[in-house]
Amino acid sequence: MTTKLNSFILKDGTISLMKDLLERTSNTGLEHGFDLCLNQKTQKITGRNTCIGTNCEVSTKAECKREEIYKGVYHTHPSGSEPSMNDIVAGLVGGVQCIGAVKDNTIKCYVKKKIPEKEESIVIEEAIKLIKKGYRLTVDEMFMKMGFQDYIIKKYFETIDIK
Ligand SMILES: [Zn+2]
Repeated sequence: MTTKLNSFILKDGTISLMKDLLERTSNTGLEHGFDLCLNQKTQKITGRNTCIGTNCEVSTKAECKREEIYKGVYHTHPSGSEPSMNDIVAGLVGGVQCIGAVKDNTIKCYVKKKIPEKEESIVIEEAIKLIKKGYRLTVDEMFMKMGFQDYIIKKYFETIDIK
């Protein structure tokens, strides 16, 4: 059995590795992740370069085999499944972001919809501005940021539950 991510196919082995890393995060509190690599001939996505992060961040190598293209990252959150602003930007750039969440016990993939190029670059620019402000955001700006994240996810991504 395979899982469709729009036009892509997520391999069963990749899904079991996702579940495995989610369990490890639940046991250790550390983020885990791997790169999502797309074989353009078969349209299959394979997980590569598994890594273990700190309790808040994971960074993979963003490397795929020669015949593949890099689409994004799967990573786990010790907390909930909402993507961070960084996750959203990475999803816009690569096309796919998958997040396993310990708190919700879910694995979700956010797959980018078709976006006019100009619109996309404006959204990314706004998002990066908010990321750069980081902890210096006022309470109002925090709420604005949360609303903006919600808006981008609903408008530009299809959310797919991985079972
Ligand atoms: Zn994240």
